[in-house]
Amino acid sequence: MSSRTKFLPFALPLIEAEELQEVQDTLQSGWITTGPKVKRFEAEFAAYVGAKHAVAVNSCTAAMHLALEAIKLQPGDLVLTTPYTFAATAEVVRYFHAKPVFVDIDPETFNIDPQKLEETVEKLCRKSSREGIPKAIIPVHIAGQPCEMDAIHAVAQRYNLIVIEDAAHALPTKYKGRLIGALSSFTCFSFYATKTLTTGEGGMICTENDEWAGRCRVMSLHGISKDAWKRHTAEDSWYYEIIAPGYKYNMTDIAAALGIAQLRKCDRMWQWRTEIAQRYTKAYADLPEVEVPYVHADVQHAWHLYIIRLNLERLRCDRTQFTEQLKAQNIGTSVHFIPLHLHPYYRQEYGYQPHDFSSAYNIYKRVISLPIYPGMCNQDVEDVIRAVRRTAEKNRR
Ligand SMILES: *Cc1c(COP(=O)(O)O)cnc(C)c1O
Repeated sequence: MSSRTKFLPFALPLIEAEELQEVQDTLQSGWITTGPKVKRFEAEFAAYVGAKHAVAVNSCTAAMHLALEAIKLQPGDLVLTTPYTFAATAEVVRYFHAKPVFVDIDPETFNIDPQKLEETVEKLCRKSSREGIPKAIIPVHIAGQPCEMDAIHAVAQRYNLIVIEDAAHALPTKYKGRLIGALSSFTCFSFYATKTLTTGEGGMICTENDEWAGRCRVMSLHGISKDAWKRHTAEDSWYYEIIAPGYKYNMTDIAAALGIAQLRKCDRMWQWRTEIAQRYTKAYADLPEVEVPYVHADVQHAWHLYIIRLNLERLRCDRTQFTEQLKAQNIGTSVHFIPLHLHPYYRQEYGYQPHDFSSAYNIYKRVISLPIYPGMCNQDVEDVIRAVRRTAEKNRR
């Protein structure tokens, strides 16, 4: 049997007639930047996840930056997260000259280990600790599996920390029956091209707090206060007041138009990914070289990513050789993530060694993210299954 002839990309957005229609409508309306479509997308998104406020911005990075700004993070403050994430999660902490404190992951879920989180916070809060003041926790719902939020909230409450969820992978994720979006002080979503809902580039800040929502909104557009503008009459529509040096993080109506169309089919896209995940899990059940994703009971996995772990002791190749062989069979894959503490910046700034976070490091060496997106047909899924099986068998010890 030969492998497929056309390369299967690792990720592709599902753009259909409804997206084109909605974007065309915006382009022809005469209003293409932040306006009525953004308002609508915010309202519909808030209703979907059950959040009080949703503030649309141009990335999840911007969303997390604004959340930390709203809680007035100070230089030298500490923010707890894991190294097993994308650059954005920790760089936003560095924007404030604050310090990201890494906590190792649970090797089954790749999410922050709540036990280790508690130990780390406890140590930092001891009187003798000179490190700085812990202010916030940023849990990351890796692949779309929720973190153990009850345990995280318990730690946050005990030590007076604010929880900002990095929910870049977590739409639509449920924790104990509730959608991620209204469980913590802030929840930040990403609408980057490869995410489960896309606006090309984009993000959303969800919060239940009126004051924080207002602050994020003002700071997302140059610190310009609309309240001041509202106090003036219609003739003064040019009037505005700058209340702080803000940022240029607003979402455009063109992006929001995409978001509106994508949100309408969010459940359908989730269903599609779920079916692919189930087929992979079933197909690899008897393949000893491959460990399928662990899924907690009582959760809804968003299946943004399907991450397999190779049992390297059973293989004559490493992860990189495995993905190269998949590529030779026209299957695109990726690796999520290169732990942050392995990158030059974090190594140099904080002197980290690979084994400082050994679960993150060991998992990293074994993982491959397989293609999982709506738009993949039966044959695509079959081709991935066959290529992985073939590669495992070929390299079997
Ligand atoms: C994609 C991603 C982000 C960043 O999202 P942007 O919208 O590109 O800023 C943050 N965290 C994680 C875990 C991500 O995967």
